Amino acid sequence: MIAAGGGPDVLVIGAGVIGLTTGIRLAEAGLDVLIRSAVPPGETTSALASALIGPTFAAPGDPMRSWEQATVAELTAAPRSVPGVRLCRGLLAARPAGMMPPWPDQIAGFTPAAADELPEGFRTGFWATLPVADMPVYLDHLTERFRAAGGEIELRPVESLAEAARQAPRIANCAGLAARELAADPEVCPVRGPKVIVENPGIDTFFIEAPIGASWSAYFPHGDHVVLGGTAREGDENTDPDEQEAAELVRRCVEVEPRLRNARVLDHRVGLRPGRPSVRLEAERIDGTLCVHNYGHGGLGVTTAWGCARDAAALITG
Ligand SMILES: Cc1cc2nc3c(=O)[nH]c(=O)nc-3n(C[C@H](O)[C@H](O)[C@H](O)COP(=O)(O)OP(=O)(O)OC[C@H]3O[C@@H](n4cnc5c(N)ncnc54)[C@H](O)[C@@H]3O)c2cc1C
Repeated sequence: MIAAGGGPDVLVIGAGVIGLTTGIRLAEAGLDVLIRSAVPPGETTSALASALIGPTFAAPGDPMRSWEQATVAELTAAPRSVPGVRLCRGLLAARPAGMMPPWPDQIAGFTPAAADELPEGFRTGFWATLPVADMPVYLDHLTERFRAAGGEIELRPVESLAEAARQAPRIANCAGLAARELAADPEVCPVRGPKVIVENPGIDTFFIEAPIGASWSAYFPHGDHVVLGGTAREGDENTDPDEQEAAELVRRCVEVEPRLRNARVLDHRVGLRPGRPSVRLEAERIDGTLCVHNYGHGGLGVTTAWGCARDAAALITG
């Protein structure tokens, strides 16, 4: 609840997975938190994620590893399961031989795949058990959890960080790709990715091809449907679905999992990942207001959200 007559303690910009988790951390710490967002959570880029949580393959000491571990801990250590999230066994495979992860002990359920478990054309692979999130359901849960902690969401875009800074003594900039304009950050770059959803023909393990380049094969079962990926077109801001691109994506997935061949397509949409060479998680002063930036998570925002929220909340609460 926002105190009568006063503004919030903290204004969070953005209601994607980054803004919601940051908002939850702050609201559950007892602060009055208002999220202002241009669109509802279900219409953000976050809603279009596949979404596999990890592995980042980040080196020890790299903040990405700590952020990923915090997310996995948050989602798997809860006494009750988190709506939309479940642990799923799956195969991570590469076409070249000898591409094993540098720190296999960091990957839950790591087991090298036998040669006859690999799809045709793949020469390395391992099994792992990782959380996968059905994003619309997970975002609904995050929204409810934020509101249950007293947080409020207002659908009203901020015009600028200076305008936001007039509304609260502390702000968190979780605007994803829009941080490019809000924070005048030329390092932020859209990375286009289509999401094709098909009926589940009975698949219960995920698959993802490494390394992630401009295109790869990936599928993630979420009960009655399967999310197919993946494509990453850097600098492409067009969100119109491209039928040829989707057909190619489906073809790559069918090559790996023939049961997907006749699966009925339920949805096809395009998202823009908020690309940046590295996540921006730091504080600055804007007209005397503390502004903590938390954006630029590229293709790993769902994976790193809880760790980034922890560190952003620490910067905000001082
Ligand atoms: C096809 C696809 C598959 C993906 N798969 C995965 C995956 O498997 N695993 C994974 O970890 N990640 C994945 N990602 C990446 C993940 O979706 C992003 O990293 C993540 O969603 C970024 O979250 P965000 O909250 O920063 O941004 P967004 O979800 O884009 O949210 C930004 C928020 O800022 C708000 N906003 C913008 N401008 C303003 C303004 N002026 N005023 C107020 N609010 C504003 C928006 O309305 C929105 O609420 C995938 C992405 C795509 C596109």
